[in-house]
Amino acid sequence: MDLLNTLVDKGLRRELPSREEALAVLATSDDEILDVVAAAGKVRRQWFGRRVKLNYLVNLKSGLCPEDCSYCSQRLGSTAGILKYTWLKPDEASKAAAAGVAGGAKRVCLVASGRGPTDRDVTRVSETIETIKEQNEGIEVCACLGLLSDGQAERLRTAGADAYNHNLNTSEGTYGKITTTHTFEDRVETVHQAQAAGLSACSGLIAGMGESAEDLVDVVFSLRELDPDSVPVNFLIPFEGTPLAKEWHLTPQHCLRILAMVRFVCPDVEVRIAGGREVHLRSLQPLALHLANSIFLGDYLTSEGQAGKADLDMIADAGFEVEGADTTTLPEHRADAAGSCGTGSCGSGGEGGGVCGSAPAVSAPQEAAEPAVAVESGARTDLVTVRRRGAGTDLAPNA
Ligand code: SF4
Repeated sequence: MDLLNTLVDKGLRRELPSREEALAVLATSDDEILDVVAAAGKVRRQWFGRRVKLNYLVNLKSGLCPEDCSYCSQRLGSTAGILKYTWLKPDEASKAAAAGVAGGAKRVCLVASGRGPTDRDVTRVSETIETIKEQNEGIEVCACLGLLSDGQAERLRTAGADAYNHNLNTSEGTYGKITTTHTFEDRVETVHQAQAAGLSACSGLIAGMGESAEDLVDVVFSLRELDPDSVPVNFLIPFEGTPLAKEWHLTPQHCLRILAMVRFVCPDVEVRIAGGREVHLRSLQPLALHLANSIFLGDYLTSEGQAGKADLDMIADAGFEVEGADTTTLPEHRADAAGSCGTGSCGSGGEGGGVCGSAPAVSAPQEAAEPAVAVESGARTDLVTVRRRGAGTDLAPNA
């Protein structure tokens, strides 16, 4: 296929595809899916080999959010039966982080619900970062606390944070349908603040919210312009009790097309499969490893992932290897420019990397744009399991 050959050549040269080429990837048929995966896989292997970076989420503060992001189980008015608790103490967070490290995670992502941290919250998170760094040698820490105010990124950096996650989530054009209490531009500004403070920027998207193919391409091109070191790709987990509970638009094949498009547009960036991996890719998860070079281990913020052991087995069975702590994630040309961390990043927004840092206000259930790909009818509540273990519970984390 000429399209795929062109995209491989561009990806190997780190050249930006055209919007039309990115849209054409999303428009490929299921019959072509293995060709698409094989092509984007060449680009993935050029920059990241067969390595898979493992990241581990610790939800520092769960639920109780005054904001109203329509995809989020922690939003104001959500009736999803999630765990709700306020800030974990530094030792509790460190203990949770240690479970991920024991499972092979090289990055811990510290996430808190809310529009953004107060200065007191930053002090609290700084203590947590210092504790985790003391107790887990060599671990990378990414913070995901929402919209930042002046000076907060610098304080987190001084405390030892390596990265900051704040997702764009969806296109600028559809942003107001998803969240009304802050703007797309607010999000861009926080990513810039993190970058200016020397933090490795992580910013990604959520697919499956009823957006069009054009919207998906728009947000990925916006991300490319922002130039984060890592891009988490969330697939909407339609939680019962949220306005998007009925939005089931994704097939496993379309998730692969989306990941391939992201890889072609951001060829040398850490692309992480985030929340919704198990729910939407299902038995095609191993194919997605040919596109993304990073996943979350174990559970997500408020939902359960597959067992950490199953993640590790999947990586080994598919012929990939877990990236070690002594390996720099990003290719040399990016690592040199990325400051101390030289690696991808984390994510909030959604579930697995991110969702947070959004805003409030009650959005009426959005009128969905024509979905990129129509699909399954009816809610698949059998696929979504609210998290009942790990941080904030007496049960051991699943990693
Ligand atoms: S994404 Fe973050 S800010 Fe938005 S409702 Fe959820 S927890 Fe609150």
